[in-house]
Amino acid sequence: MEIPRNARLVTETDVVVVGGGPAGLAASVAAAREGASVVLVERYAQLGGLASGAMVLVLDDMCNGSEITVKGIAQEMIDRMAAMKLAVFPPEEDRRADPSMYRRWARWGLYDYYARTKPAPVCYSTAFDPEGWKRASEDLVKDHGIHLRLHSWFSSPLMEADRMRGIVCETNDDLQAIRADVVIDCSGDLVVAARAGAPYQSGSYFLTTVFRLGGVDFETADKFEYEQPERFLEVDKRAKEILGGSWDKWWLKTPLPGIVWCNCPHMRGYDGAKVEDLTKAQLEGRRRIDELCAFVTNNWPGFEKSYLVDLAPQIGVRQTRLLEGEYVVTKEDVQDRVHFPDSVARGRDYYTPYRALVPKRVDQLLVAGRHYSATSVAQRTSREIPPCMAMGEAAGIAAAMALDRGVVVRSIDVARLQKKLRERGADPGDVPSSNATVREMRQQT
Ligand SMILES: Cc1cc2nc3c(=O)[nH]c(=O)nc-3n(C[C@H](O)[C@H](O)[C@H](O)COP(=O)(O)OP(=O)(O)OC[C@H]3O[C@@H](n4cnc5c(N)ncnc54)[C@H](O)[C@@H]3O)c2cc1C
Repeated sequence: MEIPRNARLVTETDVVVVGGGPAGLAASVAAAREGASVVLVERYAQLGGLASGAMVLVLDDMCNGSEITVKGIAQEMIDRMAAMKLAVFPPEEDRRADPSMYRRWARWGLYDYYARTKPAPVCYSTAFDPEGWKRASEDLVKDHGIHLRLHSWFSSPLMEADRMRGIVCETNDDLQAIRADVVIDCSGDLVVAARAGAPYQSGSYFLTTVFRLGGVDFETADKFEYEQPERFLEVDKRAKEILGGSWDKWWLKTPLPGIVWCNCPHMRGYDGAKVEDLTKAQLEGRRRIDELCAFVTNNWPGFEKSYLVDLAPQIGVRQTRLLEGEYVVTKEDVQDRVHFPDSVARGRDYYTPYRALVPKRVDQLLVAGRHYSATSVAQRTSREIPPCMAMGEAAGIAAAMALDRGVVVRSIDVARLQKKLRERGADPGDVPSSNATVREMRQQT
């Protein structure tokens, strides 16, 4: 394996993780806990990926009714942020379908979005603050001796035939090579796997520029919504027209007093991997947000003194490239809660097989996070932050296990991986829940 002549070898490691988002954080911590040396490479100035950079401020898809399905490092992050008073979740006694509970928690976004009944049940999910996420991630990285390299853009793979041997990063200093025995792609856009020659599909979904408003009087806004329902519906409808795309509750509370986050405007028809589209969407988002701010100040009780705090530094991209790995998770797998014997991660009520983290063709590479091996439609309902962290945790342990046993990552003993995940406090989904569809190992040709 040749390091390009214009690149400088900066370090050698057991495992290099590309991307410091939710999946990359979990992968790095999990591998380090198993004794591997880990380098974590992130292009931006902070950890968190979309969770902090795009200000996606609710952790959901982590329960199946009253059963908590994503534990492990995702739960540790919640505990750390809660200790800083920067995470809020409903206590157990509030987690039920009840109009008063719904009124208490709906504006936090902490209810079951998939429920077909009204009011939707309040469920286990967490609202958090982006600075809390960054700080808790930095602490975890430090506590595990992970070598963090911010401001480093992955640019090309180091290959020996079909086997990955490390990566090269672009920095404003110089081109930097990192030799590694295993590479974990947690870039969200599958940049490493795609450039290494692994098969993938191009997916897409709408983009969103999240923003925050401050100075909101929650009590007045709550009374308006529940005590003047007709007027509320009128004003809400107009706000949504201005936004041109949003979820039902377009603003949600955050742990900071008077600050709300707005998961909108949604913008369709853009490719989240293309510079031209990202630039256009960024400008379009700002235009719609400016108009919305003027409207709510004048029309929404509780928002009279509101002001724009910030637009998320990163535009929200949900889907671009998707791995076409050893197994491709389908919409039916997610909808029917298909249980796989090699399940290593769970989301809401669905299961992720280890094969969906393993690329075809390229060795010593794992993929975890929103670009995992799923069809475009399946990914749309199975890519929330907690399941991405669960995948990262599985990939990190798998990488360390392969090194320990001297095997390639595609050949590790998955039953042992499941056991190790359980020992670490995660739920790999090896035991199907009562509402799962249990099938024999499904192969795809
Ligand atoms: C607007 C929006 C709203 C959402 N709402 C929710 C929600 O309410 N709840 C929920 O749980 N989920 C939500 N999601 C989904 C969730 O945010 C993502 O699926 C999740 O963050 C994916 O985690 P990840 O680690 O796979 O990828 P990302 O969060 O995208 O992290 C990827 C990381 O890789 C880094 N990276 C990329 N390329 C390179 C490179 N070349 N070199 C170095 N580093 C690189 C990025 O900077 C980033 O830090 C939402 C997503 C969006 C966009």
